[in-house]
Amino acid sequence: MMDENVLYKLSSDIEFSKFSEKEYLLYNQKLHTYTKISQKYYDLLGLADGKRTLIAIREEFQERHNILLSDNQIVALFNRLKKQGVFGYDDSVKQRVKIPNYIKFGFIFLKSNMVSKIVPFLSFLLRKKIYIPLMIFGIIVFCLNLYSNYYQYRELNIVKIFPYFVVLIFVSIIFHELGHATAAHYYKAKHGGIGFGFYLYFLPVFFADVTDIWRLERWKRIIVNSAGVYFEVIFCLILSIIGFFTKNHVLQILGLVISGKALYNLLPFLRADGYWILSDLFNKPNLNFHSFNNLKIMVTSLLKGVRLKFDKVDYFIGFYGLFNISLIGFFFYYQIVLNGKSIIYFPKTIQGILTSLADNQSSMSFRELTKCVSILVFYIIFIKIFTELAKKAFKSIRKK
Ligand SMILES: [Zn+2]
Repeated sequence: MMDENVLYKLSSDIEFSKFSEKEYLLYNQKLHTYTKISQKYYDLLGLADGKRTLIAIREEFQERHNILLSDNQIVALFNRLKKQGVFGYDDSVKQRVKIPNYIKFGFIFLKSNMVSKIVPFLSFLLRKKIYIPLMIFGIIVFCLNLYSNYYQYRELNIVKIFPYFVVLIFVSIIFHELGHATAAHYYKAKHGGIGFGFYLYFLPVFFADVTDIWRLERWKRIIVNSAGVYFEVIFCLILSIIGFFTKNHVLQILGLVISGKALYNLLPFLRADGYWILSDLFNKPNLNFHSFNNLKIMVTSLLKGVRLKFDKVDYFIGFYGLFNISLIGFFFYYQIVLNGKSIIYFPKTIQGILTSLADNQSSMSFRELTKCVSILVFYIIFIKIFTELAKKAFKSIRKK
């Protein structure tokens, strides 16, 4: 098991000395322990500067030395070294504010003590006798709602109801995050606050800190990670029922839209809930890395004609990586080849929307909104890939 938020720092009692051509000796002055490590792990430990997590150390090591280490390898190594007192007292220093390391410019707006006042009132929703019937009922109502409002949903002008829309989306998001925190509380794991930040620097995301659930059994982690969507299903259920009894179609349609957003959360990509659920399912804390790594190994073995010692799960993870890549490929094909013009004219389109919004006379359907968002996502991914390549190029120039 690994805690993704622990920062590793070498103990000040540790002394290094060269042992042989490719080996080093670690000596703990206080504990009088000796540990022999290879040059490779000597370089690795150099990265434990108290500012990096295990994952950050592994990634930086991979980047600098071009050596791949699996999560299991690095966890095993660090656990062994921990026992020998290689890291600072208490082994490690906990990060004070718990913001996931894939989120940039993050801040907590609902502190953990506030959250812990709310979640006990919601925990009954996690009881099995309530969870299952409510989920089934929610899905049935969603289907009925979709069936009766589909055409109106596509053509509804969201400009008119925009403030209404924004408020409800915001409430549903808070409710979603409370879902994760409530489920963590239900299984007696610690939860932190609820915050906001940016993923990949551009994508605004909300998050609830439930890192402590790494201590829980696998199926409990799956429930905690899916509880956000479950809470959104409840929220949409309430909206749809109120909408039905008051004959308010807008409310019904907003229930549909928020359900759609909740379903999007279940996609196993980026760092959406579906990704964490899948990584729980496979017990791989760093699924993204494993999927591409397995795929790479599969392709190399195929090209070289070497037999692989993979089990079913390894193959599945590799194919998940392939699926991920093909999806990005298809998305780019769709945007560039089939919708090239809308990409080029996107800034102009946005400008048009903004000016007509200011004049209070524009109209926009959800279909058009979805299109706009998908182009935005295209730009985000494009910029991300571009900056990564630029960073790599810059680094290789600096090395020379
Ligand atoms: Zn979530």
